Amino acid sequence: MNEKKIVYINLDGFSYSYFGRLKKNGEVQGLCSLAKEGLLFNDLHSGIVSITNPMQSAILGGAWSNKTHNFYHHYDPEARKVVKHYRTFDAENIAEVMTGNGKRVVSIHQFMLENNPCKEGVFDCAYIKSSAPQSTYMERFALLKKLALKEPVKSGEEYFVYDEFPDFVALYIDDLDSLGHNNEYDGYPKRHTPEERFADIAKRIKGIEAELLSFIRLCKSEGIYNDLVILITTDHGMTPFFGKSKLTDLINAVNALGIKTDTPDSVNDETEIVVLPYTIECSLYYQKPLSNEREERLSELLRSLDYVERVFTKPQLLQEFGFDERGPQFLLSPQYGSHFYHRDGDEYYGASHDSFDETSQHIFGLLLGESVMPSECNDRVYSIDLLPSILYKANGLKMKDATGKVFKNWFK
Ligand SMILES: [Zn+2]
Repeated sequence: MNEKKIVYINLDGFSYSYFGRLKKNGEVQGLCSLAKEGLLFNDLHSGIVSITNPMQSAILGGAWSNKTHNFYHHYDPEARKVVKHYRTFDAENIAEVMTGNGKRVVSIHQFMLENNPCKEGVFDCAYIKSSAPQSTYMERFALLKKLALKEPVKSGEEYFVYDEFPDFVALYIDDLDSLGHNNEYDGYPKRHTPEERFADIAKRIKGIEAELLSFIRLCKSEGIYNDLVILITTDHGMTPFFGKSKLTDLINAVNALGIKTDTPDSVNDETEIVVLPYTIECSLYYQKPLSNEREERLSELLRSLDYVERVFTKPQLLQEFGFDERGPQFLLSPQYGSHFYHRDGDEYYGASHDSFDETSQHIFGLLLGESVMPSECNDRVYSIDLLPSILYKANGLKMKDATGKVFKNWFK
C-alpha cells in the first residue's frame, strides 16, 4: 500500500449511546451511509480516568497514563497537596513522529498538540484556530475544508496555503461535550432532564454529520480522498448524575470503621486516608500506611456500599488499565446517577464522563478511506489502539511510547 495521509477528527464527548439511539430511530442516515463505506467500531472503549486531557493524550500517544503521566490530578501525601496535570503529555505523540519523519502536520484546535509540537506561524507544523471567539463545529470544519481546497488559512499572524494536503491533520470539536455536560452553550439553555438535553445533542450531531458528509464529498471532488485515512472518534462519552453527592456518606462510612478520613483541604496529622473526588468518581490515597487487616476491612466496606458500582484497586489499575504509579489506592466508580462531586446537584441534572458506566466508556469510532476494509469491527478496541494501527498502516511508523494494539485487519 502506498503511504496515506491521516485526518484525525475528535468529536469530544461523543458517547456511543447517542449514536446507538439515533441509529435505532433512523436519524443518522448520513453517518450510517459513511459507515457502510468504512469501518464502524461497535465495541470501542475509552480508558481510566475518562476525562478530556488524559484521554486526548492517550489517543494521540497510543498509551495510557503510565506513559502520558496525565490522569487529571492526584494527591501527593508527602507534600499534602493536590497536583493537577493540566496538559502534561510525556508520551511521544503522532504529530511528533510525523514531523520527525519529514511529514507536514496541522492541528486545528487540537489543543493537546498546541506547542507539542504544532505552533502558530510554523508552516510545516502549524497550529490553527478559528478567529471566532467561541468557535463551534461550523468554523472548525470550515478550516479543514480550506485545507482541502488549498485556500489560505491563518496560523498566528501568518497566512498559509497548502498546495498539497498536509500528511497529518487533527481537528478537534467540543460541541457535543459542552452540550452533554448540560452547560448553557451556543444558545441552548441548561435543561432539567437528560431527555430534554438529548434533543439538543441530536440536533448538533446532525449538524456535525452534514459537515462531515460535505468534507468527504469535497475530498472526493478535489481528488484527494484516495490519499486519506480518516478517523472520526472521541475521548469519552457522557453520564448523567442527580441530587445529593455521596462524598460525605463515603467519608463518614470510612471514619466509622475507625480509619481517619479527610478531603485534601482538611488533612491533618491524624489523617490516614485522603478522598480526592473527580466529578462522578473519586479516588482514595493513603496518608499513612494501613495494616493488612485494616486495609482488608476498608476494601470490604467499599465493596459493600450500595452506591458504588466498581472498586478499582491500585494493583488492578496498574496492571489492567495502564495507570500511572502515582495513582490512588482505590478508585470508586458509583452507580449510574450517583456521584462524588464536591457539591450536591441542584434543580438541573449534572453530567460528566469520569465514570465506568458504558455511557461514558463506550465511544463512537469510524474509520474511512479507500484503503479501509468496509465492514463493522466487533472486536473490543481501546482508544489507544486507533492511531498506532492507522499510523503503522499509513506510514509504517510507530510512536515510541505507544502500548496500544496494532490491528492490521482494518485495512484492505
Ligand atoms: Zn472530553
